Amino acid sequence: MAVLVTGGAGYIGSHTVAALLERGEEIVIVDNLQQGHREAVLGGKLYEGDLRDEAFLDQVFKENSIDAVIHFAANSLVGESMTNPGKYYHNNVYGTLCLLEAMNKNGVKRIVFSSTAATYGEPERVPIDEHDRTVPTNAYGETKLAMEKMMKWFDTAHGIHYVSLRYFNAAGAHASGKIGEDHSPETHLIPIVLQAALGQRPHISVFGDDYPTEDGTCIRDYIHVSDLADAHVLAVDRLRRGEDSAVYNLGNGQGFSVKQVIDIARNVTEREIPVVMEARRAGDPAVLIASSDRARKELGWQPKRDKLDDIIRSAWQWHSANPNGYGKN
Ligand code: UDP
Repeated sequence: MAVLVTGGAGYIGSHTVAALLERGEEIVIVDNLQQGHREAVLGGKLYEGDLRDEAFLDQVFKENSIDAVIHFAANSLVGESMTNPGKYYHNNVYGTLCLLEAMNKNGVKRIVFSSTAATYGEPERVPIDEHDRTVPTNAYGETKLAMEKMMKWFDTAHGIHYVSLRYFNAAGAHASGKIGEDHSPETHLIPIVLQAALGQRPHISVFGDDYPTEDGTCIRDYIHVSDLADAHVLAVDRLRRGEDSAVYNLGNGQGFSVKQVIDIARNVTEREIPVVMEARRAGDPAVLIASSDRARKELGWQPKRDKLDDIIRSAWQWHSANPNGYGKN
């Protein structure tokens, strides 16, 4: 039986494909390659196409024996979602609806879902656990929450069990050096800081130093992408054991401010990284830190690469060796 990975040519998807390959799983990938990279797919059978193309998706299910789906395919930029929410509702929410309908039609009953800490919005307390309220502060988080709720009702009606994994801030790159983070345009803090270290940008813009945190900049919980990948494999195992649907946070439980990230990056890269203070970015909560106790207990998940300087070092290895990502160096 094969695992279908949607968005398997993207950043977290490609690292999850690598983790599935390492344990000998048969893999089918669907990616429209709008943000994904063919070169990031280290194995498996790649179909280039869009989840919203019903005939295409049905063909993928018909041509393969799929017993579980891992669903990454989505747009994921907070800032863009605030200026173009329609894109997020169409690709993320409608795309997920098409996927669930195709799964139901083809009798596939297991889905692992790529969710986000942005479902919580401004937290009532940190660390955040899975029972805390979900009031997204941006359209991206709102669409991911809508997708989770859709899965809940497909579970109730059709018995499609799901595991939703709410990631905090993914960073780092695969130990092989073959795959890493390459978004275009890049909006995430760590790759931008490393581009500034490489001289590809004149500086890093810090979005707001007037948040209610010690140094005034936002605090996030950074988690290595390969630790996230491992959690997806464990989530597939949980569903194959026939256990109930569940929602899990995935983070290291430790927060770092934007300024702290820049300082650590300066140490790791031994480069100067010029900083310019700018206004807040719309939709950013001040502090996001995970409690991942539930994933540890119920999935047996244990992050192995949990030190921020190691995470940044692994990202730096990728960025310094591939300054233009998957493009020509
Ligand atoms: N950030 C920043 N400058 C940048 C990119 C990001 O100051 O050029 C901040 C952003 O406002 C947030 C944090 O870094 O507080 C992490 O942002 P990122 O986009 O990496 O992840 P998010 O938390 O939005 O998923």
